[in-house]
Amino acid sequence: MQRCELCGNEYDKAFTISQAGKNHVFDSFECAIQVLAPTCAHCRCRIIGHGIEDKGVFIAARTAPSPRASPAFATALAEIDAR
Ligand SMILES: [Zn+2]
Repeated sequence: MQRCELCGNEYDKAFTISQAGKNHVFDSFECAIQVLAPTCAHCRCRIIGHGIEDKGVFIAARTAPSPRASPAFATALAEIDAR
């Protein structure tokens, strides 16, 4: 059995996620999100869907204050809306 790197729970259905060349072991998606998901610079939520990264700062796609606040945000919103 593997042990979750966040909560320490040993679980026979633990899984491994590789991010940036490093492997992480978790017992739940909840723990994986706490460790791996970026935090929105605007609302402080964990970004588990599409977010926008601008110069290393992440913003949740639907909670950013205004498309005018960030050209990267405006571009990403237009791309999402075009789908
Ligand atoms: Zn855990």
